[in-house]
Amino acid sequence: MDQYAVFGHPIAHSQSPFIHQAFAEQTGQAMVYRAILAPKTGFADAVAAFRAEGGRGANVTLPFKEEAVALCDQLTERARLAQAVNTLHWQEDGSLLGDNTDGAGLVADLLAQGAPLAQARVLLLGAGGAVRGVLLPLLACQPSELVIANRTADKAHQLAAQFAGLGPVRGVGLDGIEGTFDVVINGTSASLSGALPPLPPACLKSGGVAYDMAYGTEATPFQRWGRAQGAGQSLAGLGMLVQQAAESFALWRGVRPKVQPVYDRLMRRLQEGE
Ligand code: NDP
Repeated sequence: MDQYAVFGHPIAHSQSPFIHQAFAEQTGQAMVYRAILAPKTGFADAVAAFRAEGGRGANVTLPFKEEAVALCDQLTERARLAQAVNTLHWQEDGSLLGDNTDGAGLVADLLAQGAPLAQARVLLLGAGGAVRGVLLPLLACQPSELVIANRTADKAHQLAAQFAGLGPVRGVGLDGIEGTFDVVINGTSASLSGALPPLPPACLKSGGVAYDMAYGTEATPFQRWGRAQGAGQSLAGLGMLVQQAAESFALWRGVRPKVQPVYDRLMRRLQEGE
């Protein structure tokens, strides 16, 4: 059987084995996918051992996405710009391709939920790894403006300067957010500690879309904020998670799985606390 895995530390919480086994069942692909806890200083060795056992491809999650870049013989454009790899794909000639499917996953989920991106004013909160990974796919949707707002303003300025050639992007501190946005995306890790970044009132257009990249079984503080602001939709990142997995699966297997049935199963599984 073709072998796939996700590497991380910690990894026990990962839903990727469930998602990929569900995709494999749905598309009739003969493959196994497991979670591998790599030692914090032993990621490269763990990947080499997996490859030696016949590994065909892998996902990479925290804290190894940046380190994975150096293992790859080639990078996709989106992985190169993100300087982070979440998908490893060994090719026919044995070389290793690194991709980053996080941004494509976010955009696919936003579009599937009917969020406007073309010609929209988009506010992206945060300037860490997740935000870096989604900038190229978001700019490719041609928003009228993409504003990156981060607690540490310098990081937002730097990211915006780096991506400035790819579209209308600007960096500000959280206190520099001005005007109203069609879509506000939370790419900070604030929700993970139950916090909400300080946001000015009315920065989300009434009926607009609030999207938290974080997710849980209950609404995140940011999702609750979105609802209180009168968002048309206030979404969490579970859809992004399943969409980015579908993108990796398509790269490995050449077959694009249906996302919605797997999303529904995953949501039930999380709610039942499995
Ligand atoms: P990083 O640690 O790289 O970056 C964290 C960012 O959050 C920084 O910009 C930091 O600001 C900001 N931040 C942290 N706490 C606060 C706070 N209380 N108020 C305001 N800003 C804050 O994390 P990642 O970029 O890797 O992850 C960000 C989020 O995206 C996480 O919630 C993660 O779970 C989610 N994610 C979801 C995915 C999915 O598939 N759904 C995929 C990848 C990530 P500063 O620079 O000032 O420190």
